[in-house]
Amino acid sequence: MTAPHAFWLAGREATGEETFDVTNSWDGRLVGTVSVPTEAQVEEAVAAAHAVRDEFAATPAHVRTAALDHVAARLTERTEEIAQLISAENGKPIKWARGEVGRAVSVFRWAAEEARRFNAGDAQRLDTDAGGTGRLALTRRFPRGTVLGIAPFNFPLNLSAHKVAPAIAVGTPIILKPAPATPISSLVLGEILAETDLPAGSWSVLPVPNDRMPALVQDERLPVISFTGSGPVGWSILDSAPRKHVTLELGGNGAAVVLADWSSEEDLDWAAQRIATFSNYQGGQSCISVQRVIADASLYERLVPKVVAAVEAQVTGDPSDAATDVGPLVSEDAAKRVESWVDEAVAAGATLLAGGKRDGATYAPTVLADLPADVTLACEEVFGPVLTLSRVDGEAAAFAAVNDSPYGLQAGVFTHDLQTAFRAHRALETGGVIIGDVPSYRADQMPYGGAKQSGVGREGVRYAMDDYTYERVLVLTGL
Ligand code: NAD
Repeated sequence: MTAPHAFWLAGREATGEETFDVTNSWDGRLVGTVSVPTEAQVEEAVAAAHAVRDEFAATPAHVRTAALDHVAARLTERTEEIAQLISAENGKPIKWARGEVGRAVSVFRWAAEEARRFNAGDAQRLDTDAGGTGRLALTRRFPRGTVLGIAPFNFPLNLSAHKVAPAIAVGTPIILKPAPATPISSLVLGEILAETDLPAGSWSVLPVPNDRMPALVQDERLPVISFTGSGPVGWSILDSAPRKHVTLELGGNGAAVVLADWSSEEDLDWAAQRIATFSNYQGGQSCISVQRVIADASLYERLVPKVVAAVEAQVTGDPSDAATDVGPLVSEDAAKRVESWVDEAVAAGATLLAGGKRDGATYAPTVLADLPADVTLACEEVFGPVLTLSRVDGEAAAFAAVNDSPYGLQAGVFTHDLQTAFRAHRALETGGVIIGDVPSYRADQMPYGGAKQSGVGREGVRYAMDDYTYERVLVLTGL
């Protein structure tokens, strides 16, 4: 039996009294055993972060950028090993896991770049009014305090990177809490962080059990919470800590709109390919997966067979196989939930055009049409490899259909028309509008987050840095 994975307490390796197992949802094998911090150890990490916050905020930018560059370089060197690990703990096909490591590298590189520029400050003249004669205002940003970063299972490395890298960039301590299904890649990130010169106490990676999280959420020494995960947990955090600075990156039921001008064979082939790929990548377990395809009636009948063929061409199987497009979901229970939602929709009158079958934790890529409005699948985030097709007449109806959702993370609009693109930008109640592609496009430096029930606040390296800090003005008199 191999030793349990240690966690990272104030920058050093530690183990607790209990452990839990991480298993592979494809074949059930044990991926690793992880040590759980005791309450006293969590307290030690929080106290260390609190004590080091002024020292960390004063760390020169060159020290922080060197640490960020180091992490980017080491993640690059260890890409294959870490991708194998993500694939094993998450069930993610290896090709997508390699892509995830590449994105985390980009997050740390961007954070290093932003740290070089950040907080040079703004000057504002105040002598525009008589009372301000001889005065000048200088504005700089300062950390709000230690960040509690809570990560989900679906991008275990990259969404942890999105919490850790901006914290290092602004010099604010962070306690990272990975998801219970996928903690090991975050612990490896800790291994790399431990190679840097960041002050002891400025970072911890603690796999704290969910039932002990409310105490951390309430802890006044952690004034910033950056949460990515499900709506019920996210909103309960905001409700229980209303005076904290809370960012919630929650779920969505992403829509891809195909408008009348996107109608050549080539256009429809590309749209179908992108829709099929991005309703199924990560087994549909991405907050910006394509769940809803809203197509103009003028091309709907031509698009449907192309989408069905492209979905059926997705290769389902062993996530460690380079040819696999779609692996298992995170657990058999997750696949059973997806199965029950599809079965409910079909029983209520939806037409099943592809998939609709479960094998253990794997759910076949599925396409449904004629979805009744009141079934669960029409109202909730499926978080599985399922897409629904609907037809609309014209742009206004398409945009109304996108907005007819409690969620608003990102939307994709297939159009060639620039004016339509601007109208979509104005009309769609989402955090992002992607023209000429699916809603699933994300570059890690761009602002990213939701409207409506998809969350509050923005990630994307520079935007998280703004979020972790606040503006403080310095007024100089007698100039
Ligand atoms: P989850 O809500 O079950 O868990 C997220 C994290 O919260 C985990 O680390 C979990 O251990 C922790 N947690 C659980 N109970 C808690 C509590 N009471 N207090 C504090 N933390 C607690 O979500 P998940 O299943 O890991 O992730 C899937 C969800 O995440 C989906 O809804 C998906 O759409 C969403 N997501 C959103 C984004 C985004 O950027 N908007 C990105 C990825 C995933």
